[in-house]
Amino acid sequence: MIGIADALRLLKTSEQVSYILDSSLKLTYCNKAWDKFARQNSAPHLAGGTAIGQNLLSVTHKSLRPFYSNAFRSVTRENKVWESEYECSSPLLFRKFLMRVHPITPNGWFLVTNSILVELGHAPSENRSVDYADPDGQISLCVHCRCSKRIAPPERWDFVPSNLKPNMTNIKQDLCPLCREYFYPSHRS
Ligand SMILES: [Zn+2]
Repeated sequence: MIGIADALRLLKTSEQVSYILDSSLKLTYCNKAWDKFARQNSAPHLAGGTAIGQNLLSVTHKSLRPFYSNAFRSVTRENKVWESEYECSSPLLFRKFLMRVHPITPNGWFLVTNSILVELGHAPSENRSVDYADPDGQISLCVHCRCSKRIAPPERWDFVPSNLKPNMTNIKQDLCPLCREYFYPSHRS
């Protein structure tokens, strides 16, 4: 197990979006790759150290919090690396990442890396955003697979890249039935 000084040295030059969390899951360090990713993905407000001090769970959607807090607890308990794939697509690119959580010392702290597994242009889509908006103009987006809930019949969940623009103000975070069943089964409503 490595200590925080070694973790900082490793992350300094790493191209993986990476950060260090203390035992309360507060961000204590984000590397340059994090800053670059934030600037390139319309989140410049999260670059340059401004995210330091934020609790990871407080910026995670509530339906995913039990999943991630269990994961961090298991890393500390078992002293083993935990990993999980997740999707983080933009309107132009389909992207899949592998998140790895490594236990470090001080005991209970974590080094988290995010390696890109897939980055591809989206297949052409004929789905129109308007078919996904409810009567109030809100669009439900699955926080895990990023599919949108289709409101116009037939009701279903589709992958609609144009609904992934970061500046959209009419997005409601939700879980689609498949992700709820397979990834977050303890949180069925
Ligand atoms: Zn989903």
